[in-house]
Formats: sequence, C-alpha cells, structure tokens
Amino acid sequence: MLTHRVDLTTDQIRQIGALVDGRISTHSSVLEQHSHDESAFVPVLPSAVVMVKTTEEVSAVLAFCNLERIPVVAFGAGTALEGHVVPLLGGISLDLSLMDKILDVRPDDLLVRVEAGVHRLALNERLAREGLFFSVDPGADATIGGMCATGAAGTTTVRYGSMRENVMALTAVLADGTIIHVGRETRKLSAGYDLTRLLVGSEGTLAVITEVTLRVFGIPEKMAAAVVRFPNLTNGVAAATAIVKMGIAVARCEFLDSKCIKYLNAYDGLSLKEEPTLFFEFHGTPRGVEEDALSVQEIVREFDGTDFEWTSDEGQRRKLWSARHNSHWATLAAHPGKKSVSTDMAVPLSRLADAVAIAEATLSQHRFPHSILGHVADGNFHCQIITDPEIDGQTEEIRVVVNEITLEIIAMGGTCTGEHGIGAGKIAALVAETGTAAVDVMRSIKLALDVNGILNPGKVFLFDR
Ligand SMILES: Cc1cc2nc3c(=O)[nH]c(=O)nc-3n(C[C@H](O)[C@H](O)[C@H](O)COP(=O)(O)OP(=O)(O)OC[C@H]3O[C@@H](n4cnc5c(N)ncnc54)[C@H](O)[C@@H]3O)c2cc1C
Repeated sequence: MLTHRVDLTTDQIRQIGALVDGRISTHSSVLEQHSHDESAFVPVLPSAVVMVKTTEEVSAVLAFCNLERIPVVAFGAGTALEGHVVPLLGGISLDLSLMDKILDVRPDDLLVRVEAGVHRLALNERLAREGLFFSVDPGADATIGGMCATGAAGTTTVRYGSMRENVMALTAVLADGTIIHVGRETRKLSAGYDLTRLLVGSEGTLAVITEVTLRVFGIPEKMAAAVVRFPNLTNGVAAATAIVKMGIAVARCEFLDSKCIKYLNAYDGLSLKEEPTLFFEFHGTPRGVEEDALSVQEIVREFDGTDFEWTSDEGQRRKLWSARHNSHWATLAAHPGKKSVSTDMAVPLSRLADAVAIAEATLSQHRFPHSILGHVADGNFHCQIITDPEIDGQTEEIRVVVNEITLEIIAMGGTCTGEHGIGAGKIAALVAETGTAAVDVMRSIKLALDVNGILNPGKVFLFDR
C-alpha cells in the first residue's frame, strides 16, 4: 500500500504523455485547480494532471501507474465536499472532463448512455429536446462520473431516487488497466453480484468509471412550487415528515433555516421572510399538482405553517429553486474570505426533528456562524459551518464539533453521510457507524481490485491503522 507522497520523474511524465497524445500538464495553475474540491480541506498539489479522452487511454494510464506505483485520483468537476479529489499522496489527477460525449439517447427505453465527464446540466439540456430529464440533482453542476463515484443524491431524491437507483450500467477501468462492463440496460437484473452498485459510491477508490447508462424520466406535464414558513425549526421538519408519511408524492421538499433565507435574500434579490421555511415542488398533471399542493397546505397548517404560497408560474418556480441551489454560494458570499464545512447526516424519518435539534443545540454552544438546511423528506440534513482558513486550527476545531454531532446521529440510528460520501473527512465516522468488521470487508474488496492501492489513497479508510 502506498503511504508516502509520489512525485513523477521527468521520464514518467514523458511516458504517460505518450499514452495520451501529450495531454499531461505540470503547469502550476492546472495543478492548483486539481488540488482541492469545494470543501475546506487543505489543498495538495498533484505531481501532474492527465487529460484522458477514451476508455482505452484510461486503461493504458492506469496500467502504467499500477506498474510504477503512482497514485491516481479521478477528477470530475471537483465539487465534492469531503476532500475527495485532494491528491493526498501526489501522483496524478486523472481529469475526465474531455470525456463529455452523450453517446446514445433512447426515449423508448427511458435511458441514456454517456461518457463519465458529461455534466448534469449539459445532459439535461440535450434530454429536454426529447421531452426527458435526468432526475438526480445535487445542485452543483457535477459530472455524471463524479456523481456515480459519490453516490450523489439531492433535492429530487424523495421522488426519483439517487444515483444508486438510477445507474443501470457502467464501463469502468480497474487499477491494473482491466476494462469491465457491469449492469445491463434492463429494468430488472439478477445476474451475479451487483458490481454496479459496488462501484456507485466507491469514490474513485475501486475503479475509474468511463461510461454510464442512466435511467431518465419524461418531463412532467405540470410543475409547481410552494413555500411555507414555520415558527421554529422543529415544526418545519416535523411537517415535512408528516407529508411523506401521508404518501403525497412531492418532487422536492427542502428545509432552510432563517439564516439560510437571509443569505438567499441578499444573494438572489429575494424578499422571503427570514424564518424557518420549507420549499416544495410538485410534478404531475395540472389537476394532480393542484391536489398535492392543497393537501400539503392542509398538513402544514397543523404544524403552525403560515403564509403558504404556491405557484405554477415557470419563471417563479425556477427562481425559487435556483435560489435554493445557490445556498452554498450565498452562505459564502455572506462571509467573504471564509470557507464552509458542510456536514451531511441522515436519520430514520421519525428521528429527524430530534436530530436537527441536537445539531442546532450543539452548534449554538460554539462561536462558529452556521446554518441548517436539508432534503428533509429523505431524513437528510446539512449544517453549513463557516471557518476562517486564515486562523490556524479553526477548521480542525469545527471538525471535532462535527464529529461530536455525527456520533450522536449514529447513536440514534442514523448515518454519517446520506449523499456526500466519506472522502478524507468521515473515515473515523465510517468505523463508528459500521464497525471494524464491515470496514475490513471493504478493505478486502479494495485489495482484491487495487492490490497496490494506487486509486485515491487516503479516502474512505486507511491502511495503516
Ligand atoms: C453547492 C454544492 C451543493 C451540493 N449539493 C449536493 C447534494 O445535494 N447532493 C450530493 O450528493 N452532493 C452534493 N454536492 C457534492 C458534489 O456535487 C457531489 O459529490 C458530486 O457527485 C461530485 O461530482 P464531481 O463531478 O464534482 O466529482 P469530483 O468532485 O470531481 O469527484 C468526487 C469523487 O469522485 C471521484 N470521481 C470523479 N469522477 C470519477 C470517475 N469518472 N470515476 C471514478 N471516480 C470518479 C473522485 O476521485 C472523487 O473521489 C454539492 C456540492 C456543492 C459544491
């Protein structure tokens, strides 16, 4: 297993360059761009950045790196939030952004096949021409390969599922260069071990994904949005849980605390009341959408929800959800020069109100500015905690607090991450959650597929425990 930093020799750079038509860079700005993701983890420069264009190139580069024991970190759009793409041991950052072809759109099968570097928004632009859309929406304009690798979810998961439910098949390259095809373009499959779902969420530690077949959906006939305010955080969260329990098929249901709303107002020019708020989206026929909206209005009233407003105006709907998706940037804009530590926990629905209250109470004991938001209909919430990278040790101090909350969430039956993944940030939490025996099984799988440990070393678990 690799344990120390690897810097490429001039000869290794030349040899890798020959495998990819010279698309290798050691330029400082390119290295810097690949040294970090959107988290507050300290950046680490890779030794070189390699731009690949085909599965065969990925195979050739990995085979070489495996022989030479060079660490390889796959890089999509770099929007991950747990230090996933930070090349902790140097080596190469393998950038898949040139693999951006939409290979096959099949409306009759409700599926699409794409290269791993295709971005989510570009895919949806293309699919819209066929009256289709790809549903998984993490807000950021991530790549499909990156979303597979983190098992991404987002605002629409409550209705359409996460990457785990929507990836049908993959082409991937193992550490030694072997190309594998897993899954089929069928709605059902019961053939052998489910390697597709093993690779979804493997965070670049088991293979590099090069092609993906995804399920897609027809664009709903009607979409509407609604907002409603609550006197406190607990009522808002409890209302969201009640709506799910009633079986109302909301397409999105997002909670934002009063601080999030304040930041969004300033960033997006909105004038929402600065109170705990739920944002909803409804999809369906015009009549179905109206019925869902009215049912939700009745339920939220029971939880002291006020000022329920809903609209099927497309412009207003888009404005509201674009603001929700900007919440990360809005929070940062309100704290210039700072970074955000974004937590990601999920609990069984019945424990959500308690879990959010615990997080709020713990964070309130500390001086760090923070806000809470979440995909509450999935029992999943995030705390955005502001850290000053200029203050030595502050981010580490925040991580101690986050770990304290995480352990409480695990103790109440929850998980340390609902969608962001483990990366470099949740390694200890994964052990606390699953126990050492389960983590040892994960290590065995890693060793079977990547015997030299070249793929994204230092993520998910460590080998020097
Ligand atoms: C504002 C904001 C909001 C977000 N909201 C959400 C959210 O709601 N839900 C959610 O799930 N996430 C969210 N995220 C996190 C992030 O967008 C997701 O983790 C996303 O899936 C990362 O995709 P990416 O292309 O940026 O991957 P990267 O950040 O480039 O990489 C992420 C990981 O995947 C690996 N990887 C990348 N491409 C490949 C590949 N082709 N093969 C194998 N491994 C690969 C990398 O090595 C790394 O470990 C958010 C991020 C931001 C900045």
